[in-house]
Amino acid sequence: MSVEEALDYIKSHPEGALQSDLWKALKIDSRKCSRIVAKLLKDRHITREVESVDGIRTYRLFCVSRTSGRRFDPLMALDAFEPCAGCIEECIPEHCASLSEWIFSIVMSSDEVAPSNAIQEEGGSQALRSPSS
Ligand code: SF4
Repeated sequence: MSVEEALDYIKSHPEGALQSDLWKALKIDSRKCSRIVAKLLKDRHITREVESVDGIRTYRLFCVSRTSGRRFDPLMALDAFEPCAGCIEECIPEHCASLSEWIFSIVMSSDEVAPSNAIQEEGGSQALRSPSS
């Protein structure tokens, strides 16, 4: 069983393929399947998310070409990824420069006229402000 066959199987499942189904479909044991998945992950052909099926932990595998440009589009503004995903900072959204910059990118990408004073310095951090403030 080849890596290419595993990738073809994953590609044929736009909703993502469960790793627990992959090794059964390819008629290989789960250890060999794990090695194939590891290679596909290392080569960045796929991504995976933990999933529980009937109380058993497995992974849902996604072909990268199918995930990029679709699943994460709502989290992208121009080339900036939504900053709250995975953030471990102490959260004060009103004073978060990362969030303000991301929102500003959304405004810019929507081709609306952005006010020149949209981002102002406040107490060492940037905050998004309306044009009247
Ligand atoms: S608002 Fe800022 S601090 Fe809060 S989670 Fe988002 S990026 Fe992190």
